[in-house]
Formats: sequence, C-alpha cells, structure tokens
Amino acid sequence: MRNILFVISGPSGVGKGTIAKLLTERNKNVALSVSCTTRKPRENEIDGVHYFFISREDFKEKIEKDGFLEYSEHFGNFYGTPKEFVENKLLTNDVLLEIDVNGGIAVKEKFEKAILIFILPPSIEELKNRLKSRHSETDEQIAIRIDRLKYELEKEKFYDYSVVNDDLNTAVSEVEEIIEKEKNK
Ligand code: ADP
Ligand code: 5GP
Repeated sequence: MRNILFVISGPSGVGKGTIAKLLTERNKNVALSVSCTTRKPRENEIDGVHYFFISREDFKEKIEKDGFLEYSEHFGNFYGTPKEFVENKLLTNDVLLEIDVNGGIAVKEKFEKAILIFILPPSIEELKNRLKSRHSETDEQIAIRIDRLKYELEKEKFYDYSVVNDDLNTAVSEVEEIIEKEKNK
C-alpha cells in the first residue's frame, strides 16, 4: 500500500493542532511533519516537536537552497514545510501536514496525490472562544486572525474533504475515516 501525504488546514484556532496530535497518537502509521518557523515558541512548545524554531537568516538560506516544499508568511513570521523531512518520512509512513490554506494548495500542485482536508469551526463565535481560551495571542493578534477568516474559508473549495470540529473525538474519527478510505482506494 502506498504512503499518502495528507494536509489539514483551516482557520487559526479551529483545532488543527489538537486534531493532528490526537490523530497521530492514535494512528502510529501517520507521522506528523514538523514545519520550520521564525516565530517565537509558545510556553508549552518544544523545538523539533511542534516546530523547528529557526532565525530569519536560516529560513532565507533554506529558501535559497530549495529546502521547502512550500512556505508562506503569516502574521509577520515565516512558516515552511521542510522538503527532505517529508520525503524521508513518506518512505515509511503516511505523513500529515498541518499548514495554512495557501500551503495546502501549493503542496497539491507539487504532489498531485496529496489529500487535502479542511477543518471548519462549528460557528464563528466558537472559533473566537477557542482563540481566546488558548491564551497564546493578544486581543490584537486574535483580531488579525479573525480578519483572515473569510479569506481562508473561501479556499475550502480547493480541498478534497471538509470536517467540522465541533466534538473533538467525532472530528478525529472523521479524519481517520478519510485516511482509511484513501488508503483502501
Ligand atoms: P489551531 O491549531 O487550528 O490554531 P488549536 O489546536 O491550537 O487550533 O486549538 C485552539 C483551541 O481550541 C485550543 O485551546 C484547543 O484546546 C481548543 N479546541 C480544539 N478543538 C476543540 C473542540 N472540538 N472543542 C473545544 N475546544 C477545542
Ligand atoms: P501558529 O503560529 O498558530 O502555530 O500557526 C499559524 C499558521 O501557520 C497556521 O495557519 C498554521 O497552519 C500555519 N503553518 C504552520 N506550519 C506551516 C507551514 O509549514 N507552511 C505553511 N504554509 N503554513 C504553516
């Protein structure tokens, strides 16, 4: 059975990270890719686990060496999917990328067989609540993330599947069903 590259995207605060963590804990054949970023680590984040936290200079050097499958800038910081890391993981595992909408679309252009999954919030109110309860952004940063929402939701049409993250376990099970279905094709 071939290994598949899966991408999950969706608005900031929708629960992508939470779903990806649970999913990869429950499914050992699905490896979570670790992106590079120039943003500062949040309190509970570990270098090499949540992201590779690198300097702007190192990020630029990696761009020049064609080291990213895709990269983009969000909220003043750079984020990129390390090409070699993903290609190596795909030799032995399915791989899950948790990246933004433009990253997902860029990946599909390079990896036609990648499967794109869009995560939707149950409502905009709930999305705002989740962003606030995460306590990782200031009110101003939350407002910037909400402003981007409409733009991100318009990209849903480029995705192969959509999953609403209302109840967490149900959402994870739905993503698992998509993986199962694609593996059995
Ligand atoms: P993202 O990675 O999409 O930015 P996170 O995974 O960080 O979002 O989730 C944002 C917040 O919402 C976190 O505090 C997380 O615990 C919470 N959360 C995630 N999924 C759910 C859910 N189904 N119901 C309630 N809260 C959730
Ligand atoms: P955060 O700072 O909240 O961890 O992430 C901000 C945004 O960057 C999220 O939408 C997240 O999915 C996106 N992101 C994380 N890693 C990558 C990546 O490698 N490439 C792209 N394009 N976006 C990423």
